[in-house]
Amino acid sequence: MTIVYLNGAFLPLKKATVSPLDRGFMFGDGVYEVIPVYRRRPFRLPEHIDRLEHSLRGIRLASPLSYDGWQSVLDELVLRNAGDDQSIYLQITRGVAARDHSFPVDCPPTVFAMSTPLPEAKPASSSAGVGAITLEDIRWQHCDLKTIALLPNILLRQQAIEAGAAEAILVRDGQVTEGAASNVFCVVSGMLITPPKGPRLLPGITRDLIVELAAAHEVACREQVLTTETLAAADEIWLTSSTKEIVPVIRLNGTPIGDGTPGPVWSRMNRLYQDFKRQVHAGAPLP
Ligand code: PMP
Repeated sequence: MTIVYLNGAFLPLKKATVSPLDRGFMFGDGVYEVIPVYRRRPFRLPEHIDRLEHSLRGIRLASPLSYDGWQSVLDELVLRNAGDDQSIYLQITRGVAARDHSFPVDCPPTVFAMSTPLPEAKPASSSAGVGAITLEDIRWQHCDLKTIALLPNILLRQQAIEAGAAEAILVRDGQVTEGAASNVFCVVSGMLITPPKGPRLLPGITRDLIVELAAAHEVACREQVLTTETLAAADEIWLTSSTKEIVPVIRLNGTPIGDGTPGPVWSRMNRLYQDFKRQVHAGAPLP
């Protein structure tokens, strides 16, 4: 039975209800995080909570809990659910109020968290690679905020799926921003390139870890503007996210990338990433 956290209480998912007047439902007025859990411990929690607080500041909503408060809620949620490896979904909205665009006064936010088993890592399918297409980035000017208003991302992802691809790689003014639900890396002559952080893209936790691992293991890496031309001519392209980790793109707009198989830099980085996960959570106490 899935147990969720809602406004201070742990309860079965089936019993968790939110008013239709919740501003998340009415307006998409809220933010969220997705946090992977390995061996029952949230991975990179300080980074996820920092990003959550950045998103909350960005929508002018006071953080309802301190770092320690979030940690204890999420630790308990993970213990109450099945599976050593899980994926936490945490959402905070501006609460329940009469429908009006202006901020409600003295309105407690709605805080919801659930955790579901993380699907078993499938090295074969992730290393088989996926197809992607490029699409115009139709989103707003604050893509660094992880808001629950995901309609553009949904439409873009669906367009990619209907074109037989797994992800849409988004382009604004000729520059690659990110995927519909992922960050983008490419490899050009041995150099790893990813677009710089800023309002056009989400500062991905996986992205940042890859940049960190590249620096620690002397993999040449630059955070720089990435044009669609550079992307199309790259030797390798990867998509990154907390739940999918590092996924090689082997076809872009129907054309093979490199030799059409996952490349050697991806293999190396994937190994470094898996080793890092194992080291961080080695010896983590299991309940
Ligand atoms: N960009 C977008 C738009 C996303 O939705 C995601 C996944 N949450 C990412 C990037 C990757 O971020 P992370 O590595 O923190 O999962």
